Amino acid sequence: MTATIGVLALQGDVREHVAALHESGAYALPVRRASELERVDGLVIPGGESTTMSNLLGVFDLYDPLVDRLRDGMPAYGSCAGMIMLGSRILDTRSDARHLDALDITVRRNAFGRQVASFETDLAFTGITDLPDAEPMRAVFIRAPWVETVGAGVEVLATVPDGPAAGRVVAVRERNVLATSFHPEVTGDHRVHRYFVDMVGAA
Ligand code: GLN
Repeated sequence: MTATIGVLALQGDVREHVAALHESGAYALPVRRASELERVDGLVIPGGESTTMSNLLGVFDLYDPLVDRLRDGMPAYGSCAGMIMLGSRILDTRSDARHLDALDITVRRNAFGRQVASFETDLAFTGITDLPDAEPMRAVFIRAPWVETVGAGVEVLATVPDGPAAGRVVAVRERNVLATSFHPEVTGDHRVHRYFVDMVGAA
């Protein structure tokens, strides 16, 4: 059965994720209301601005329904601002910003600083680039967060390979929840989306 995957569509780069999910074999739809959230098997939270997204979750009465679905085990994937939204502890955010506490990580917002605020690199991604004949993954970072600490149940899937931020954790998974600091929806390489579609199918 084809999985139905929502993309939280309050703000951010929604269309790119919808397209990447379609091309990865899922049925994808934007989610702005609780009634739409009820229909999806999994949810992508896109990049954008986490403090704005936090505010809009309240305006659209989506915060509580979303927390409930995540507690029930709905698979979720957050990219960049989406990683911040899914985290349990957020550093360098606004004091009134809310997050979803679905992934046992500490996330530092805008972590790469001014000099490397936006950059690209090739990296290794466990479960994807370690397959036979797989190419490294091109990762695009745009005022991205990094993962500062991970809880015991969290698997680190990718780190920055070199440069000033070498070793920083930029992709993680805990059970049904996946997050990347970078934006696979902008590169045309849909392997992270296919990985998530497989997670939704297995859930
Ligand atoms: N800096 C943004 C934030 O704090 C995230 C940037 C992005 O999603 N590209 O939410």
